[in-house]
Order: sequence, then C-alpha cells, then structure tokens
Amino acid sequence: MTLNGRNALVTGGTRGIGRAIVLALAEAGANVVTCYRQESDAVDLLRKELAVTAGEHHVLKADVGEQAELAEFVRAAAAHLGTVDIVVHNAGAITHVPFDKLSLEGWNRVVDTNLTAAFQLTQEVIPALSESASIIYVGSKVAMVGVPMRAHYTAAKAGMVGLARSLSKELGARGIRVNVVAPGIIDTSDPDRMPPEEYNAMQERLDAYRKRVPLGRLGRSEDIAAAVLFLSGDGAAFINGETLNVDGGM
Ligand code: NDP
Repeated sequence: MTLNGRNALVTGGTRGIGRAIVLALAEAGANVVTCYRQESDAVDLLRKELAVTAGEHHVLKADVGEQAELAEFVRAAAAHLGTVDIVVHNAGAITHVPFDKLSLEGWNRVVDTNLTAAFQLTQEVIPALSESASIIYVGSKVAMVGVPMRAHYTAAKAGMVGLARSLSKELGARGIRVNVVAPGIIDTSDPDRMPPEEYNAMQERLDAYRKRVPLGRLGRSEDIAAAVLFLSGDGAAFINGETLNVDGGM
C-alpha cells in the first residue's frame, strides 16, 4: 500500500504502538510529524530511523494533555506539512486505581490525554485538513467491556468512540472520515525501561492474558499499525464512524 506524498500527524509516536504507526506511515511514503512527552533514548532512535526513510519527518516535544503544548504542536506540524491528510491520536495515559481512591486530578489527567486531547487536536487541525482526510483515534477494546480500576480510562476511550461517531457525520459532509482503532492487549513492555521485578510481573500478567486470546498470542504494535495504515488509505475511502477492534478475537 502506498501513501506516497501524504502528510500525517501522529501523537505519541516514539514508543510502542505510536512508534510502529509512525514507521509504517513513513515506510508507506507519508511525511510524518509526531510528538512525545519526555526526552528518552527512544526519541533519538526514532529520529535516526526516520532520517534514513524517504520523506520529511519531524519528532517534536509536546505533552498532548497540556492545551498550550498541543496547540503549538498542531501549529508546528501544519507549518511543516502544509495540508494534513492523516491524523492519528495515539498518545494515551492509563493508571490503575480503585474507583473509591480515584482523585479528580487522576481522572482529569487520563481524560485530558485520551479524550480531551482528541477533541482539541481535531478542532485545531481542521483548518489544515485536506479534502479527503482520515482521522483515526487509538481507543481500546476495554472501553466496550469495562475493567476494574480503570473507570477513568475506559470512560475516556468510550468517549472517543462517541466523538468519532458524531464527527463522522459532521465532518463526513466535507469528505473527512473519522474512525477508531481499538487494540486488545498489545505487548509494548520494554525491559530497558522497567526495573526487572516490574518487567517480570508484567510478563506474568501478559501470559495470563495470552491464554484468553483466541488466536493464542498477544497483539504486536505492528498489528495496530497495519489497521491504522488501512484506515489511512484509499482502500478505506467509504469507512467512516467505525470502530475496528484489533484484538485477536477476544
Ligand atoms: P506506550 O506507553 O508504550 O507509548 C506511548 C507513546 O505516547 C510514547 O511515545 C509516549 O512518549 C507518548 N505519550 C504518552 N503520553 C503522552 C502525552 N501526554 N503527550 C505526548 N506524547 C505522549 O503506549 P502504548 O503504545 O501501549 O499505547 C498507545 C495507545 O494505545 C494509547 O492510547 C493506549 O491507551 C492504547 N492502547 C494500548 C494497549 C496496549 O495493550 N498497549 C491496549 C489498548 C489501547 P513518552 O515516552 O515521552 O512518554
């Protein structure tokens, strides 16, 4: 599939699923501008990889949970790209907190990064969008089923589905499509970023999840990137307002 010369904006592109999305879009020929929240080796690594990929790519620092930083990121991305054909809101925040211990601040941080950022990003980028632009929100399968200790996260991700459905109708009239990709459980754990005990505990949890996936494996970041690539391109030109679960049949 080719996205030659298309211009893409991706939030949270330096690690995990976002990184796979950025690399897949760039390899398909798109120019990509992405952002991250904090400096790390992952930022330098992505910059190096993109430097040897054809096209124009920029990796900028911006916390999408901060309104001013998100606005500046969109402005900078539009300045680099001109018109924007593909928008992917991937950056997300999650914490695991029992509902009776969930503070308003904790709620706000998760809702701001997932849902409010989707609203603000979309509103700010509209003037720069091309006529047949594709907007994709990275949601979550758990938004459809609910999960303990993540009421704030599931509420935010479910809100993204409602936002996409309404916008698919409102922006669809201008040829702009809005869809959600809902990952199941994707192994984005990185042994270099976690203390060994934490990494091992996470692997144990992931093993338990693996047994519940009909396809018998966890998702890979590339599985989600493939779905985003599909929804970005002309093959999905008549798909609008959908939520595409990518969860191995879970
Ligand atoms: P990771 O934590 O592995 O990577 C997140 C990326 O987003 C990093 O590049 C990170 O940059 C960036 N990021 C995080 N917060 C912000 C922010 N406030 N502003 C800008 N950039 C930010 O996440 P995943 O790859 O696991 O998840 C990506 C998306 O997929 C999220 O929306 C998540 O909710 C969703 N998802 C993930 C699942 C999974 O199993 N992994 C399952 C279902 C949904 P930095 O390094 O600077 O923090």
